[in-house]
Amino acid sequence: MSEGYYYNNSRDKRRQQKRKQSIVKGVIFGVVCVAIVALLVLLFVKLFGGRDDNGDVTKEPAQTSEQETRDSAQTEDTEDPADTTKAEEDDTTPAGGSENANVQAVLDEAALLAAQYDYDAAIEKVKSISGYEQIAAATKAIDDYELTKASCVAVNPETVPHIFFHSLIVDPDRCFDRSKYGTLVDGYNAWMVTIEEFNQVVQTLYDQGYVYVHLSDLYVKTTDADGKVHYAKNTSLMLPPGKKAIVLSLDDLAYYAQYPDGFASKIVLNDAGELKCEYVGRNGEIQVGDYDWLPLYDKFIKEHPDASYRGAKGTIALTGYDGVFGYRTDEGFFSNPTSDEAAWIAKHPDVKLEDEIEQAKVIAQAIKEDGWEFASHSWGHRPMNEKSLDWLKTDTEKWLSRVAPIVGDTDILIFPHGADIGGLSDYNSDNEKYAYLSSKGFHVYCNVDASQLYWNQFRDSYVRQSRIDIDGYTLYLALSNSNTVISKLGLDAQAIFDKSRPTPVIANGAG
Ligand SMILES: [Zn+2]
Repeated sequence: MSEGYYYNNSRDKRRQQKRKQSIVKGVIFGVVCVAIVALLVLLFVKLFGGRDDNGDVTKEPAQTSEQETRDSAQTEDTEDPADTTKAEEDDTTPAGGSENANVQAVLDEAALLAAQYDYDAAIEKVKSISGYEQIAAATKAIDDYELTKASCVAVNPETVPHIFFHSLIVDPDRCFDRSKYGTLVDGYNAWMVTIEEFNQVVQTLYDQGYVYVHLSDLYVKTTDADGKVHYAKNTSLMLPPGKKAIVLSLDDLAYYAQYPDGFASKIVLNDAGELKCEYVGRNGEIQVGDYDWLPLYDKFIKEHPDASYRGAKGTIALTGYDGVFGYRTDEGFFSNPTSDEAAWIAKHPDVKLEDEIEQAKVIAQAIKEDGWEFASHSWGHRPMNEKSLDWLKTDTEKWLSRVAPIVGDTDILIFPHGADIGGLSDYNSDNEKYAYLSSKGFHVYCNVDASQLYWNQFRDSYVRQSRIDIDGYTLYLALSNSNTVISKLGLDAQAIFDKSRPTPVIANGAG
């Protein structure tokens, strides 16, 4: 519209000049013409204008040329496939400015992909910039990524350690209150680490060059024509020299009803859509923040993207009997509660099973999108080596019917208490528990063994791996023995162990 207006305006002006040359034909005629032109201009402004309401005709041509220059510059921007939307929207940025900003934004995205060791994706991202061959920063980035990629070495999945934590102690004074919790304190003292201890472990592992990979990054899973799954070591997991892969898992993200004070109470999404923890303070006030490993890891990896291989975080092992993520999603919790569960229900009289399930599904989806995987940790958290096959079947069916619908299917089983269903030799079909679990889709198994840095079996029909518990007990042992896995992981127990813990820390089983 404005172009039509300006074009016609120029034409009218020429027409006006022409008429002025004919002034000898009559001053009155000229005056009439000028009046007509003025009326025409006013009419155009009225019909198509709106940009300028001062009616200052003599000023218009200067604005016209400026506007035309800017319009044509914007037309070029619009033709740039890099980011047409932004070019169209950005009416005020001088020509070239938004284009540079777009190039930089794409280069930043590529840098993040490369920082997380996905060099091919980073290079593809740079090449998506139109005319990248002419942009020095782009060609330099590609050269850098090619060089770093060429320097990478293959990770041997058989030598990758696997560590795990339980939920973190926010307030040790509240958690270790023996007058309130009696001998239960010994359990939490052995199984858990404090937020302070956790932060030191995570920072030290990063400083040692450890990079979190998913458990599923260690193997390649294929399904044959008969629908049978096969597993093989992944030989194409590559990291730069000096970087070491490590697997992370986190147990029991249920915030059990029996937990003492001083722990987070549930996973929630804040207004910005970030996963956070709800925590009940000393005076009953509800706070939302980084009160457990999930938001703390998210924050750490955001600040240190190279701590994660392609966005991997960890595997979250879930039980069922008290629900998931602090949501009471199990029917038995309400229909047949233990004394701890009954006390919890009394404190939360408005909580309804159906609402909890719906909310937990939203949280589960957000956690998956955030880079975490889920595993079964059994429904009832009993040692599978001691329990009967019938018990195992009932328990597994409960997990599959009450937890899997919320978090999705998984082929990973993390044994409760670390208690394996077999010895060190290979599983075979004579092992009834293995045969049953395999028939239910579980093919990746994790026990607990903190006596060595790594132990695993990559077999055609299953994968098995041991895990190292990083907790009060292993840190306490490492205080007086500098030869445990804690120091083999490069962790300094003297610096990490919270001296306010009750000692000695008594063994209570792990996982
Ligand atoms: Zn557990």
